[in-house]
Amino acid sequence: MTNRIFNFAAGPAVLPEPVLAEAQRDLMALPGVGMSVMEISHRGKVFEEILQGCESDIRTLAGIPANYHVLFLQGGASLQFSMVPMNLLPAGGKADYIVTGSWGKKAVKEAQKLGTVQIAGSSEADNFTRVLEPSELKLDPSAAYVHFTSNETIHGVEWGDGKEPDAGSVPLVCDTSSDMFSRPIDVGKYALIYAGAQKNLGPSGVTLVILRDDMLARVPRNLPTMLDYAAQAKEKSLYNTPPTFGVYIMRLVMKWILSEGGLAGIAAKNAEKARILYDTLDSSSGFYRPHAKPGSRSNMNVTYRLPSEDLEAKFVSEAKKAGLDGLKGHRSVGGIRASIYNAFPKKGVEALVSFMKDFQRANG
Ligand code: PMP
Repeated sequence: MTNRIFNFAAGPAVLPEPVLAEAQRDLMALPGVGMSVMEISHRGKVFEEILQGCESDIRTLAGIPANYHVLFLQGGASLQFSMVPMNLLPAGGKADYIVTGSWGKKAVKEAQKLGTVQIAGSSEADNFTRVLEPSELKLDPSAAYVHFTSNETIHGVEWGDGKEPDAGSVPLVCDTSSDMFSRPIDVGKYALIYAGAQKNLGPSGVTLVILRDDMLARVPRNLPTMLDYAAQAKEKSLYNTPPTFGVYIMRLVMKWILSEGGLAGIAAKNAEKARILYDTLDSSSGFYRPHAKPGSRSNMNVTYRLPSEDLEAKFVSEAKKAGLDGLKGHRSVGGIRASIYNAFPKKGVEALVSFMKDFQRANG
């Protein structure tokens, strides 16, 4: 463990050390099985228990009502940009999209290939520095669904607890890729939520989709089976070979989150880590300039600028030498992005803050 650095990458991202240690210990042979988890049949009893155990922990963690399906799919959150309209947007229908960053824009672009998209609200004119107020949303009560992105990973903008858009009786769909299970979520408010696993849930390759049963009645016939939620739900994610290793790691991550006090426990730790970092930005006399506005700041991806691009490049390279990796912001926003997901340790945030204070003293 001694040579592990602090990994601030946006995803794939840091995983809990106890999870990596258990996976390493059991990699050659699962106890009592004599084979690696990567070598067993996805239709055998051992994998069945892993899949069911993972689903059961997910249900416990998020308090998922019984009328919801939990699906383990592939293709990343990006495929959900297409699957959501393919399955839920009927011919001639319209879907409302709320856009607060690059990922929401990408979701719009894919949905436009399949049907009519209405932009119900966008903070693009404000350079995606904030989420939207209810008064800024133009929601169509006849829309097939409303789609939004709970946490914009690139801009570091998050809809805080209770601030999520209220779609009334229109089904609410959310891309929760970068904040799923970082805090409690009232799944009952949503018709469908989805997330690529590689931030808070496990390795890349698994996409978690949680959807309400009544949505399946909308699925058009003759969709390709792999892209059909109804078929995937009927087959319990075993229509074809699922990403077995990814599901196994996700199972270990879910057990780990439960051991950390569940979503409430992990949320308190995440809020504290983010507070330490934002306090440092706010007390830097303008040397560090946060991208997101207060009230919209992400607890997962903390984005900020320095006085010049030269200083930002120097910051990233000196931080890396100090064992703080993955801090370069996305090219579309520039600056610095510190991703501090569930598994990112508080001592890593403290190390970053200490580095930032030294860096400002030397370069401010
Ligand atoms: N949505 C959000 C909010 C994301 O952060 C990402 C990936 N960073 C995606 C969608 C795309 O996910 P994937 O790479 O799993 O397709």
